[in-house]
Amino acid sequence: MKSVPASILRQQQRLVQSSIQRRSIQSWSRALNQPVRCNGSPFIVPTWSSKTTLRHFSSPPPKQSAFAQTARSTTTKVCPSCQARLPAAASPCPECKSLVRIPSTVSYYALFGLAEEPLPEQAISVTNEELAQQELRQLEGGGYVLDVRDLRSRYLRRQQGCHPDSYTGQGKIYDLALEQSSFLNKAYSTLADPLSRAQYLLEIYGNPISETDSLDDPALLMDVMEAREELEEASTEEDVEKVKESNGGRIRETMDGLAAAFGANPPDLIRAKMLAIELQYLKNLERAAREWQPGKRVEVIH
Ligand SMILES: [Zn+2]
Repeated sequence: MKSVPASILRQQQRLVQSSIQRRSIQSWSRALNQPVRCNGSPFIVPTWSSKTTLRHFSSPPPKQSAFAQTARSTTTKVCPSCQARLPAAASPCPECKSLVRIPSTVSYYALFGLAEEPLPEQAISVTNEELAQQELRQLEGGGYVLDVRDLRSRYLRRQQGCHPDSYTGQGKIYDLALEQSSFLNKAYSTLADPLSRAQYLLEIYGNPISETDSLDDPALLMDVMEAREELEEASTEEDVEKVKESNGGRIRETMDGLAAAFGANPPDLIRAKMLAIELQYLKNLERAAREWQPGKRVEVIH
């Protein structure tokens, strides 16, 4: 764990002394499902009841990943209609225009042509994970920095090629179009969202966020606690606008941190995971701020 600046430690001591903020630590600790850790030692958190309406604020269950199993990678395939050799991510076939199955192990970056797959002879002995990691090394911020507008236009172009409406009444081809369309949707929504993009990258590195992971970096924990308190104390639209603005700033800083962590050589996965968990909390706060109404209690629900 990195050392904590003295100012943060002083801030934390003041925090423990304040009953309002103590309640907050308690709810955070409960939400994180374990004692809040400071500098490696757990705070002993008292068990009085809290009116804070923070509920189930933990990490989502790990998603099923194409990278969960180590398998040999296939970077090329043969078009069953015209026998052309194609990159694994290609469909429809550029030669004969028929739809060709896309292996589910193709990375989302390769799917949208953001990363060039290595030549087949280079990839012959690599696993899916190794191949995806090779792709990420070519990309800014290790794949975390993305131009979402560019991604969207790539997505729309690919969707045009396999739109199920174009294959109505064609039996298995229609099913294949549906399957590819939903694969593209999933890939696009994963990469377009800064949080799910970070989660996806962590999966590629075999280090996904699990239910038991929590934010144990004191400085990052302070950030999210402060952000939540600002929102809890907001009583006017103007207050909420200020919260949105400062939370937006925190989100941008966290994303910059993620780009630096994923872009490091080798990627700093411990840091990236902590920042991804922080981003998860900040995104929940962003949603709560958006749904805020005068007189309504703040509910931050995962
Ligand atoms: Zn073909």
